[in-house]
Amino acid sequence: MTDQYTMQDPAKQYPGPAEEMAQTQEGPGLEQRMPIKPDAGEQTYRGSGRLTGRRAVVTGADSGIGRAAAIAFAREGADVVLNYLPEEEADAREVVKLVEDAGRTAVAVPGDLTEEAFCQQLVQTAVDQLGGVDILANVAGRQQYVEDIADLTTEQFVDTYTTNVFAMFWLCKAAIAHMPPGSTIINTASLEAYQPAPILLDYASTKWAINGFSKALAQQVASKGIRVNVVAPGPVWTPLQVAGGQPPEALKSFGADQSPMGRPAQPAEMAPAFVFLASPESSYVNAATVSANGGTPTP
Ligand code: NAD
Ligand code: MG
Repeated sequence: MTDQYTMQDPAKQYPGPAEEMAQTQEGPGLEQRMPIKPDAGEQTYRGSGRLTGRRAVVTGADSGIGRAAAIAFAREGADVVLNYLPEEEADAREVVKLVEDAGRTAVAVPGDLTEEAFCQQLVQTAVDQLGGVDILANVAGRQQYVEDIADLTTEQFVDTYTTNVFAMFWLCKAAIAHMPPGSTIINTASLEAYQPAPILLDYASTKWAINGFSKALAQQVASKGIRVNVVAPGPVWTPLQVAGGQPPEALKSFGADQSPMGRPAQPAEMAPAFVFLASPESSYVNAATVSANGGTPTP
């Protein structure tokens, strides 16, 4: 455990890959079952009123990067609607408590984003229970590696696109209808958008699509006073990676090869980018992608 406010060597701030990282799980993956628990800033993130009174919807809020964003948003003063899959209730409960401990309202809305009606309902819940929505952080995502295109099923291809791209479209569409000027949307791409792994044909191409969609939408809604930006993480230690995101062998060196830092990131290291893009301090940053990948150059 470290905090993010003490000057230190970033390459050594968190540990490098370890053997235990190769312990895999089925399904969406639970943080609670990971032998090495990710750091989402639970003990360390310090707010300073940067999102006072804001109303956020965060998808994938139970674990990993979404959990880190939800904790940070709450400690910066925002109320948060938290979405996740019903199987992830145990992880989500921890985040609900953390948001409430920050003195903010947490509204837990489990459900499957691959249904358009549910995406609309999720936004409506924010409007009904928080009185509106002015931050949308689309963090949920699906990543399942497949080594050979011959084994990549149409079902998986559709599912990855529905989760990563269609749900983002449905949520943006539903939220923009309610968003006042000053609102912000943050979508989640990846280093995979620029350096697609050969085993992630479907996933990597959705991440490229997320960038393109966001940059087009940002121009369209700028006149409404809504900004749209993207965070593109590098390798981050989360359930996504151990639940079919990477082959077990690759997990043993996860983050060592993919980043000049020689280590994976922790979700806590992604949260400040989300806060920056959500808050009015980034007022002239629009249609941008903030890479948080430890140093791999991106376009
Ligand atoms: P994670 O497993 O903690 O989070 C992903 C979340 O997506 C899950 O918790 C789940 O709640 C949600 N989800 C998946 N399918 C869903 C569905 N059908 N309906 C509702 N929710 C669904 O992993 P993470 O790494 O924190 O992933 C968050 C985002 O970060 C994803 O978009 C991922 O692509 C992106 N990302 C991760 C990494 C990494 O190395 N971990 C790198 C780049 C980008
Ligand atoms: Mg999860």
